[in-house]
Order: sequence, then structure tokens, then C-alpha cells
Amino acid sequence: MPNNSFNASAHNGAFICEAGVIVAARRAALIRAFGILPCVNMTKIDYRDWTFDCDVESTRRAYESILAGGVETCSCSGCRNFLAQRQLVFPEEVINLFGQLGINYKRDAEIYHTARIESGLHLYGGWFHFIGNILKQPDVPAKLNGHFTVDFIVSRSLAAESFGNQPLVQVEITAEVPWILKEEKEPD
Ligand SMILES: [Zn+2]
Repeated sequence: MPNNSFNASAHNGAFICEAGVIVAARRAALIRAFGILPCVNMTKIDYRDWTFDCDVESTRRAYESILAGGVETCSCSGCRNFLAQRQLVFPEEVINLFGQLGINYKRDAEIYHTARIESGLHLYGGWFHFIGNILKQPDVPAKLNGHFTVDFIVSRSLAAESFGNQPLVQVEITAEVPWILKEEKEPD
């Protein structure tokens, strides 16, 4: 159906219907025009030098539909080494932030092993998503505890289907972790 006729019928319908139908028609028109759902439940969240808008409830709901983190769906030794110590890898500050944003740290979009670094630890990268926008940001990632960084970009790489077409922020992490898999040869 061409845009014009859709808008006209939604508009005409609004004159004779209940308020809820007017909202529904506007919502449908927005989705039609921009391909997005209007975000009505945004909460402003400050973290260090960042400020975000976040739809916490929708983010939480989206995570409830994700059955496994990326790292859990891969059987390579790098992923298994991360998984074996996951609850120790994330600093408390990040767990707290994720709690505020509605992110489940056990439901990463992707975790990947990069290499063994000079210290003998292994460098990993990975990312998560939340529904919202970045309102204010510093120039550099946050460095935590010497072995963990966190940064935020507007992106939706490998985002779970449960996020739909909503605007997403991608939370990018790096972590330096030991090799603890005894049965596996430590990679370079
Ligand atoms: Zn893997």
C-alpha cells in the first residue's frame, strides 16, 4: 500500500476511534515512515563520562528471550577458557552498570580470543547491546582494574532478533584473562 493511502486511512480512522487507536495509528505510521518503534520509556543513565538514554525494561525483556551467550554457543578452546572463568572476568563496576542498563552479562553477542600478550595473559574482545542512544561520550574507552576496558558505539553487529528494529548501543569490552584450561594446549 502506498504511503499516502496508509496515512489517509489512519488519519480518518483517528476521528472516529478511541484514544488508544489514535496512538496505535501514530505508532503504525512511525514504524512505516522510519522503520523504528518510538521509544517512550527512556531512562537517562550516567556512567563515568558517558550519558545514555536507555529503555531498561525493553532491554531486559529482549535479554530474557536470548537463550545463550555467543561464547556459550562456540566450542573452541578460546571461548571455553573465557566461559570457565566468566564470573571473575567482569569487574563489579561493569556488572553494576549492566544491571542498571538491563544487560545480562551471560548473554554476550560475541566474545573472541585475540592472542596471548606479553604478560602471559590472553586478550579477549566482545560486545553486548542495549536499547537506547549515546547522549555524551569521552574520546577514549574506560580502563578498569588494568585488565578490562569498556567502550560504547552505535552499532548492532550480531544483535539478537529480540531487539527488533529498536535503536541499539553496542557495549564493547576487552579483557585480559589467564589460561585456565588444563586439558587444552595454550594458544599463542
Ligand atoms: Zn570460540
